[in-house]
Amino acid sequence: KKTITRLPEWLKTPIPVNQNFKKIKNDLRGLNLHTVCEEARCPNISDCWGGSSKSAATATIMLMGDTCTRGCRFCSVKTSRKPPPLDPHEPENTAEALKRWGLGYVVLTSVDRDDLADGGAHHFAETIMKIKQKAPTMLVEALTGDYAGDLEMVKLVATSGLDVYAHNIETVEELTPFVRDRRAKFRQSLEVLRTAKEANPDVITKTSVMLGLGETDEQIYHAMRELRKNNVDVVTFGQYMRPTKRHMAVEKYVTPDAFEMWRQRALDMGFLYCASGPLVRSSYKAGEAFIENVLK
Ligand code: SF4
Ligand code: SF4
Repeated sequence: KKTITRLPEWLKTPIPVNQNFKKIKNDLRGLNLHTVCEEARCPNISDCWGGSSKSAATATIMLMGDTCTRGCRFCSVKTSRKPPPLDPHEPENTAEALKRWGLGYVVLTSVDRDDLADGGAHHFAETIMKIKQKAPTMLVEALTGDYAGDLEMVKLVATSGLDVYAHNIETVEELTPFVRDRRAKFRQSLEVLRTAKEANPDVITKTSVMLGLGETDEQIYHAMRELRKNNVDVVTFGQYMRPTKRHMAVEKYVTPDAFEMWRQRALDMGFLYCASGPLVRSSYKAGEAFIENVLK
């Protein structure tokens, strides 16, 4: 099978740096806060941390360690059946550091912890509650796993005070078994999203899809229809990028025009908003999008 190795022009453009970004970066020093943005060297960092103002600035924080119990074929996070125990001080320390940092919108995400009876849901919910106590105006998005289908855990997180509940389907239904860890299921992910909305109708639900894994247009439409049926409010589309040679190959580099077409289709289908582009990740400029589309 043919492997695409050359990057198309639109993925090679230099990344502009804005002034807000530098300020937010300086403010981070000494806070002992580890952002996915920096650690994954995300190309969007200037856009997200810069934002149109500090109140729109977005960063992503990883909770519950750096070792996942799952092994998805697109993901470079390390895997172990039994990762180290949770740090009981993490909820408090994270909330305190975020308050001092003072950005507008935080995305909390985590590895999957199938080794814990509750999948880490109580730890996640406690972190959200602490952030809302210490920094009530900070907008909080939780990007969670599927809690192995335990919907009580989804409800617990959905009612912990967060603004956006995100859970990524990652790909179309047909490719799910080849892309995600075998414990992840397309239908189970839809249930997670539906349950979050039912448990807390004020919460915005959101999911993300990688393109370029070999999916057909019809399969993408199907996934979008299923998401709308389950009241998912927001969808994002980005290009799958292969982290290393040991990971799945890229089947296709989707053009910027095609990403724009999917964004339009998403709006036509009733999604509240949609970020779609080659470098878009689920947290891409999430603060700005929320302020423009939900708070206005
Ligand atoms: Fe950080 Fe996500 Fe933005 Fe990348 S897309 S800079 S990880 S908030
Ligand atoms: Fe990576 Fe998430 Fe899959 Fe774990 S569950 S391997 S962190 S994508």
